[in-house]
Amino acid sequence: MGLGQSSDRREFSATKKLKQVMAQHFQELDQAVKRGSPKVAWCTSVGPAELLRAMGFLVYFPENHGAVLGASRKAMDYIPVANALGYSPDICSYLTSDVGAYLRRETPLVQTYGISGVPKPDVLVYNTNQCRDVQDWFHFYGREFKVPVIGITSPRGVEEVTEAHVKDVARQMEGLVPTLEQVSGTKLDMDRLRHVVGLSRRCSDLWKEVLETASAVPSPWTFFDHTIHMGPAVVARGTQEAVDYYEILLKELQERVKNGVAAVEEERHRLYWEGMPIWGKLRDLANLFMRLHSCIVASTYCNSWIFTDFDPDDPFHSMAKAYTNIFICHAEGWKEDYIERIVNQFQIDGILFHDAKTCPNNSNSRYSMPQRLQKRLGIPCLVIHGDLNDLRCYSEEQAVTNIEAFVEQLEEN
Ligand code: SF4
Repeated sequence: MGLGQSSDRREFSATKKLKQVMAQHFQELDQAVKRGSPKVAWCTSVGPAELLRAMGFLVYFPENHGAVLGASRKAMDYIPVANALGYSPDICSYLTSDVGAYLRRETPLVQTYGISGVPKPDVLVYNTNQCRDVQDWFHFYGREFKVPVIGITSPRGVEEVTEAHVKDVARQMEGLVPTLEQVSGTKLDMDRLRHVVGLSRRCSDLWKEVLETASAVPSPWTFFDHTIHMGPAVVARGTQEAVDYYEILLKELQERVKNGVAAVEEERHRLYWEGMPIWGKLRDLANLFMRLHSCIVASTYCNSWIFTDFDPDDPFHSMAKAYTNIFICHAEGWKEDYIERIVNQFQIDGILFHDAKTCPNNSNSRYSMPQRLQKRLGIPCLVIHGDLNDLRCYSEEQAVTNIEAFVEQLEEN
């Protein structure tokens, strides 16, 4: 996750505020490292950030850094550095980009936010709900920084999340508390946790609402805008700043809808993006779809930060439910039902599956899902082969040809 590249699309007035929120996030972390207070926790993107914030930590998300490296195309300089250390080119390219950048002691955050570097962790906290790569990734840094690495092992590939799953994850979350109290020097205050979970719920509800404005025809924004504006939902959920930001953005989007402002001129086709973004190609792809009068109105990826299960009155249980009920944890049947609901809600004409070479966890085209959905929903699906960060896996020429042919097919339907 992170800030992508801009394109020819219509800019938002809210972008200025977005930049302030993101800058504040990194500058506060930088200050904390310099002062030695508050303590810094690294967290996976769908890890228990609320618990960490409630215990006084500032929270840093390495996956966000991975996305920044991808969007700035720096990833290609760093992946081989991690490969040379034995981290395979076939594993998560967020991991290899991030570890490579660390080994080179470089980051674009220095230039973008005027900070001294990636903030050093006092503790690393993961959740395997998304994949196992995050566990290995965090253990690398645990060895480097000699700080505790703790985490949650989540059920994956389940059709339904049961009460037994939720109780297990909730117990594991509670089990993190003693180490976190030791590192932070602060006792967990349940009222503070309830407050943070409430802020995350509000952030998530607003993020859902802003994404749903794309169900308007024409859509006021596209997937490429979503990838930029999702920054606060990822790195600042559980804070008032994120809530304030999405209230501003929602007003602007509602205004666009009211005035019939289209993100894509003469919108003719409405598409769904399944899978990871291709961070280094966001601008080119945004321009391509603009030229083809096709608007990507919804995606699995950006919807992944909607957590409707958060309940401030029942923080541990609801956090466990929210983080176990995410799309990536589910089996194929559940995922297909989910996509069908979105296709109907957003009046989608076609689905693009991104098969990301280094992220099998977020690539859902490998077990015949496109063929099944095509038959079930009666709309065409296209598989694009690429990667989130490793552009060696992406043939632009082939992708553009396939996308153009796909849109031609939609024209004929
Ligand atoms: S889900 Fe995919 S992209 Fe995200 S950390 Fe895991 S392997 Fe990497």
